[in-house]
Amino acid sequence: MDPLAQLNHLQDRDLELDRIREDQGQIPEELGAARASLVILETQVADLQDRLREVRIAYHRADLELQDLKGKKSKAQDAQMRAGSAKEQTQYGEQIRQLDDRIEELEGNDKKKIEGEIMPLMVQMDKLEAEIAVVKAKVDQAKPKLDEMEAANKARIEALEAAYQQKKTERDGLAANIPANIVREYESIRRARKGTGLARMAKTASGYRCTACNVQLPMHVAQQVHAGNKVVRCPSCGRILWKGES
Ligand SMILES: [Zn+2]
Repeated sequence: MDPLAQLNHLQDRDLELDRIREDQGQIPEELGAARASLVILETQVADLQDRLREVRIAYHRADLELQDLKGKKSKAQDAQMRAGSAKEQTQYGEQIRQLDDRIEELEGNDKKKIEGEIMPLMVQMDKLEAEIAVVKAKVDQAKPKLDEMEAANKARIEALEAAYQQKKTERDGLAANIPANIVREYESIRRARKGTGLARMAKTASGYRCTACNVQLPMHVAQQVHAGNKVVRCPSCGRILWKGES
């Protein structure tokens, strides 16, 4: 049998193996979308948690300041009671008034309709905690579905792998019947050309062309291919030329 005809069969097998590998790497659309939407949800959780952390820091800072001011105020009140002179009392009174102003800014004062700094921070913390819970629930809902899809995809890849290994064994058996130097040459061209290493020659109005790169072949090249005494390569793309089934 014409070794190049066998090489052509081998190439068909190799292309089939390539397609299996490609299929294995293809991520199903549904799985890709599910992965992406989980990433979005997890990013949302992380962003909300960052914001919550910032608000908590602001809240603790304000709360510490408030405790500090209250401590200073009570000391000033004690000192005012112990004050010896009216002037001193007035000075402490002024100090207490200033402390009260800042305490009011932090705590708020309903009668004066001052909202204060601390309450809005607490409201914000509650709001963020609720938002985080909502998004986390979505993550918890999405995860098992994604796991299921991942498992199905893994099974799909494994089934393809089994088919690949079986076909590879058959392919190697076929290759063993072709002269090793031809197989080696074909394989190195296939690697370099990322696909085919053997190309059929086709008749044109004025001669022959390479069906891989479509270049018109010089007549002496076409003649050598027809003679079939040695391996002839396309002068343009370098693939092994085959005259085709006769
Ligand atoms: Zn060519």
